[in-house]
Amino acid sequence: MRPYELIKAKREGRALAQADIRSFLDGYTRGEIPDYQMSAMLMAIFFKGLTGEELGAWTQAMLNSGEVLDLSDIPGLKVDKHSTGGVGDKVSLSLAPLAAACGVPVPMISGRGLGHTGGTLDKLESIPGFRVDLTVADYRKMVREVGACLIGQTATLAPADKKLYALRDVTATVDCIPLIASSIMSKKLAEGIDALVLDVKVGSGAFMKTQEDARVLATTMIEIGRHVGRKVTALLTNMEQPLGTTVGNALEVDEAVAMLEGHAPADYTEVTLALTAEMLVLGKKAKDEAHARSLLQEAIQSGAAVRKLEEIVKWQGGDPRAVRDRTRLPKAKAVTEVAAPAAGFVTAIDSEAVGLASVALGAGRERTDSLIDPAVGFTLLKKVGDPVGAGEPIVRIHYNDDARLADVSRRLQAAYQVGPSAPSTRPLVLERLE
Ligand code: URA
Repeated sequence: MRPYELIKAKREGRALAQADIRSFLDGYTRGEIPDYQMSAMLMAIFFKGLTGEELGAWTQAMLNSGEVLDLSDIPGLKVDKHSTGGVGDKVSLSLAPLAAACGVPVPMISGRGLGHTGGTLDKLESIPGFRVDLTVADYRKMVREVGACLIGQTATLAPADKKLYALRDVTATVDCIPLIASSIMSKKLAEGIDALVLDVKVGSGAFMKTQEDARVLATTMIEIGRHVGRKVTALLTNMEQPLGTTVGNALEVDEAVAMLEGHAPADYTEVTLALTAEMLVLGKKAKDEAHARSLLQEAIQSGAAVRKLEEIVKWQGGDPRAVRDRTRLPKAKAVTEVAAPAAGFVTAIDSEAVGLASVALGAGRERTDSLIDPAVGFTLLKKVGDPVGAGEPIVRIHYNDDARLADVSRRLQAAYQVGPSAPSTRPLVLERLE
């Protein structure tokens, strides 16, 4: 069928043949099908959706638009984690060394921060010298010899996604579950993984605001995995407030190392352990979750997890001394504190507002080409459920630019709600899906 006929068929809600999907996407990637026809197709998909078969074919065509890494010559099941993005989400920084220390090879291709959410690459680059632009040959070598490597997206992996994402961004078709699921999965499958664990965040600071939407996104990605023969499991995790107590690049690295040393905040520790335990089971290094958790505790207590992070940092050009001696990380020139608006209990912290405040401070990006300041950010001195006195400090701001302070303080104060009693708390891991 011609592109016109395919668009019309989808607009009418008919399922497309796999070969037609392939030729449509291939034609678009090669520049033979113009943006206006793809835009119409995306909008038809937005309204009519894709069947499981169609979605499998769509994702596979996106995956095959570029290089698909083959890591099958590296021993062990290669497992990665993908998070849909949150505020204070430094899980990858501790999860990758932990999983690798327990013998699961982790080939991890990560992203940068955009909008209110931070990015793993920006956090890692706050370690002096750390490089995320390794060649594919170095990436392979590290997965084989170190057991983990964390790099940025290359131009050769799933190029169709790059082109499609830019088009979706300007045609109001980003927030469409089959398109989100195929976009994420095509990039992850190109890494050469055998299995994947998804951290689908739910709440005010997340892409998915409700548990129902998060469940649909997770099951859609699990289904794609099944279609291409990769085991995918998902945890829906709570993003009603920022994870841990730090937001900002070097501050989050500091907290990630603290997690590997066994003394990080309980919420961040628990989400990391839950996701890494999934990886150990998927990678067949643990027979079940309880076994996985005991291996993870051993890696923390023996110091193996911290040593693995030092090894990763060293291999990627960073200063490994910064792992144990965090005075070597970038440090803001000044700190100040934001006071509680009233006495009572913290009832809510708007994660998105905290994320946007961190962007306003310079820790995140307003545009893809914005420069970020690795040293600045927040320490959350109070979290949901904590008692506060009137005027008591709730957030410490680490800053370099005085001119940004008034706006950032105002945003943080507005992000906190204080009420007369502690709210009931929801679990951190809301649901597990496979
Ligand atoms: N993240 C992605 O990689 N793709 C989307 O479409 C949305 C979020």
